[in-house]
Amino acid sequence: MRVPFFDLKAQYAAVRDEIGRAITEVYDSQQFILGPQVRRIEQEIARYCGVSHAVGVSSGTDALLLALMALDIGPGDEVITTPYTFIATAGSIARSGARPVFVDIDPTRFTIDPWLAADRITERTRAILPVHLFGRCAEMESIRTLAVQHRLAVIEDAAQAIGAEDEYGRRAGGIGLLGCFSFYPTKNLGGFGDGGMVVTSDPSLASTLTALRNHGSSTKYLHTLLGGNFRLDELQAAILTIKFQYLDRWTEQRINNAKQYDALFRNEGLERRIQLPDIPKKERHVFNQYVVRTPEREALSHFLESREIGHDVYYPVPLHLQPCFEYLGYKEGDMPISEQAAKEALALPIYPDLTSSMLEYVVDAVKAFYGQ
Ligand SMILES: *Cc1c(COP(=O)(O)O)cnc(C)c1O
Repeated sequence: MRVPFFDLKAQYAAVRDEIGRAITEVYDSQQFILGPQVRRIEQEIARYCGVSHAVGVSSGTDALLLALMALDIGPGDEVITTPYTFIATAGSIARSGARPVFVDIDPTRFTIDPWLAADRITERTRAILPVHLFGRCAEMESIRTLAVQHRLAVIEDAAQAIGAEDEYGRRAGGIGLLGCFSFYPTKNLGGFGDGGMVVTSDPSLASTLTALRNHGSSTKYLHTLLGGNFRLDELQAAILTIKFQYLDRWTEQRINNAKQYDALFRNEGLERRIQLPDIPKKERHVFNQYVVRTPEREALSHFLESREIGHDVYYPVPLHLQPCFEYLGYKEGDMPISEQAAKEALALPIYPDLTSSMLEYVVDAVKAFYGQ
């Protein structure tokens, strides 16, 4: 058997006709930029996240950059974030002109440790940017408390976490001041290309974001702000609207896959050999990735390779050690928990259409690896 790490084809087969019709509708209208499709998906995502406003943008990366721009964060400012994430998180902070300040993670959640964050707040800190990594919310209540005490904005990087809920049932993206989503094809809600969204319940930030994504203009050819072209296409919006109707079903399949892995690994006693991800009871972890940990990561990875089982490493190099952030002056040993995670983390296939026999095949392979 071959188990791909990710397979979009099965999902596409289920929505192919509906998407075909939606695309034809856009073709027939010949309206490609900022039209009814974008407005519709914005309304649906806003409602889904429990916020009043959503602004469709060109990618998750651009969502983060726009959120920072809307708050007028730039040179001289500091933004606290995690080093254990995709480059776009801290990359956007640096591109805004502000300085990323890294804070190590909680070892079981893989998300920013709010207690460590408290120690890194200075008079230059403007915002805290937690990442809901792999689909599980960061500890938002502690982060919010910290933000209120120090008058900081909370920007959520919810790129991997659409539909996730914290222990109070609050939806990812709608908990902080601003929430950022990505519709990159492998995210839980993925388009046919790039796309993203910023959500907020602050109407004045929403209108700033709306202006900024379209060259800082709310009246044609009058530019009150310096923005750019950060727009979501009508075509992507039409596709996302169709796929969005299936999001909760697909998410439940991901959660079920995680539960199946958990039961199968425990049946074999493998939880003593690899550290399994938590399946929280009160929170909704949407499992964009199912990440196990083991000190034998490299050997296990080669073994899975030989059995044609797709897998990946998120993330092999934490951001404080990336060459592009050398100027920040971090060194190895500064973020020990993230550095350890970078050596041990291994993502297994978890996509919604993964079959039970594929899941069993993956678990059998891990068992065979440890039985050798
Ligand atoms: C995917 C991702 C992004 C960037 O999204 P794009 O749409 O690819 O630009 C940002 N942050 C995290 C945590 C991501 O996983």
